[in-house]
Amino acid sequence: MCFSRYFYGMKKAGGNSRVLKDLLQTKCPNCGEANMFEYSTLHLGKFLKMYPRCPNCGYDFNPEPGFYFGAMYFSYAMNVALMVTAGVAFEVLVDPDELWKTFVSVFLPPLLLSPWIFRLSRAMMLYAFGSKRKKRS
Ligand SMILES: [Zn+2]
Repeated sequence: MCFSRYFYGMKKAGGNSRVLKDLLQTKCPNCGEANMFEYSTLHLGKFLKMYPRCPNCGYDFNPEPGFYFGAMYFSYAMNVALMVTAGVAFEVLVDPDELWKTFVSVFLPPLLLSPWIFRLSRAMMLYAFGSKRKKRS
């Protein structure tokens, strides 16, 4: 999944499972040690705030202006997948008798998970299309 690290020979010991773990934990795509975000996901006032560079290795988290606009495509894909999965699972498992219950089952999970989806989509964008530069000081 980590395209830039994979394609540019930045692969760490531990292979792709390590890369996937770093991505899911929103760690730096270069070193995998430091967090991309300054605050916890549960800090709802500041969960969006990112470091400009990796505190550990100096990797640039903002390769160009507007870089993270593309993250909305990752976010959209994850939200649609979540909505379809939740809606189908609810229909199959609960078989609701009223339409509003189906709407709640479809729209509530993305709403509750939106901070995680937002951060993960940014991490996916950086892992996929981030700078190939290993270090920048
Ligand atoms: Zn780093």
